[in-house]
Amino acid sequence: MSAPSTPRALDTFLTPRHQALWGDVDAFADQEIRPLVTRMEAAPGRVDRKVARLLATRGWYGVTVPRASGGMQAGNVAKTVLVHRLARVSGAAAAILQAGLIPVAALLHFGDKRQRTNLLPAVSEGRVLLSIAVTEPDQGGHIGGMTTAAEWDGKAWVLTGAKAHIGNSHIADLHIVVARTAPPGTRTSQALTAFLVADDRRGVTRDRYASAFGLHGFSFGRIGFDRVRISPEDVLGEVGQGFAVAQSSSILYGRPNLAAVSLGLHEAAFDATTQYVDHRPRYQGMLSDIGVVRDRLGAMAARLHMARILTYHAVDMLDQGVPCDDQLIAAKTISHEAAVDSGRDAMELHGASALANSGQIARVWRDMQTTYAPAGTGEVQRLRLAQAALREQRPRPTPDDEIDHIPWSVYFADRLRHVEPDPTAV
Ligand SMILES: Cc1cc2nc3c(=O)[nH]c(=O)nc-3n(C[C@H](O)[C@H](O)[C@H](O)COP(=O)(O)OP(=O)(O)OC[C@H]3O[C@@H](n4cnc5c(N)ncnc54)[C@H](O)[C@@H]3O)c2cc1C
Repeated sequence: MSAPSTPRALDTFLTPRHQALWGDVDAFADQEIRPLVTRMEAAPGRVDRKVARLLATRGWYGVTVPRASGGMQAGNVAKTVLVHRLARVSGAAAAILQAGLIPVAALLHFGDKRQRTNLLPAVSEGRVLLSIAVTEPDQGGHIGGMTTAAEWDGKAWVLTGAKAHIGNSHIADLHIVVARTAPPGTRTSQALTAFLVADDRRGVTRDRYASAFGLHGFSFGRIGFDRVRISPEDVLGEVGQGFAVAQSSSILYGRPNLAAVSLGLHEAAFDATTQYVDHRPRYQGMLSDIGVVRDRLGAMAARLHMARILTYHAVDMLDQGVPCDDQLIAAKTISHEAAVDSGRDAMELHGASALANSGQIARVWRDMQTTYAPAGTGEVQRLRLAQAALREQRPRPTPDDEIDHIPWSVYFADRLRHVEPDPTAV
């Protein structure tokens, strides 16, 4: 294993095994991913498959999967190390990994014995790449507004509709699709169901992937479902539990994964800017000798410290099995905001040279913008945090105290304990 070099501030959260993993992923990212970045940037509309295959060979899609099911059982801090350190080199590679990991949460928490036995080893060994398809073109972040529906025809569920902006849309082998299964008027918490839908099923379609603003090489596109027949065995969880599947996996895995992508991009921007201002001549010295430049660099450093601690603290709580939904939510939103604030400093401190489309800073800046929407926009996160704060003031039940407000880290405390990190893992 490579020699680790981890920030001292994270010593509280990182065991020697996490530190060794940190060294491993850094070496992998530098040797295997960095050479692919130029190729991915040069062809923005092209979906890269090689990165997903390389990640699969490391077994990293199984980072939180129990050893008994073929995984690493290394826990949420280890998952964060993987996503964070990959994002430092390539936001797209980190996005490919994190998008494949969110549905693993759904499978771990809601899969029945047969589904877990069939799928978890295949996912861990990299033979099956998952996606989770919730968002729709018109409903956006409002899960309850979805129109994709599955109807029971007496023998099978028949699924019709379209999903949009789905991570790994064009390379996943199996999609966890959340669809409406109850008549209008049913509460969202009971109206939706999650289904396992193989990508090669008749009726599953995709448009040609269109180039996006950032994360070149990663696909987050549209998937269509035209009367796709699904056997009852491929219902994930109970009929009517689709909202719980979507929401819990987004909070427990999606939020911290996106916090980690933002963190890696933030570090890339900070390191490049420090290097740049310290080597760019100005007057008799360097740009870094100027007080105003130092002030901006110091502000970037402060934000980076904050985002790091917040992100690792939240996932450490998850590994400890203590309630932490609010910390996961805060980490996602603050890590994104901090990264974008520092990204602006990075762009401006690089002056005109930041504007070369092929440059690292432009890539990092574009990629940072893409961590705002997934797993809940900033407004959605702040609404959740405000609701939680107000509930503490008013402990009596309120009309909106439905399943939407159960802390998932509490709800799944028992099941999370089953996959508690093995101290000998990694
Ligand atoms: C890189 C990337 C990867 C993604 N991966 C996946 C994936 O794997 N699976 C998946 O299902 N989806 C995925 N998404 C989609 C993502 O979940 C949605 O983009 C997100 O839910 C927001 O939906 P929207 O973009 O349509 O915005 P909208 O929901 O239409 O929001 C537009 C604006 O309105 C604001 N707004 C919306 N509702 C409210 C409200 N109630 N109060 C205040 N403001 C509000 C939002 O904050 C935002 O600023 C991904 C998106 C991206 C960019």
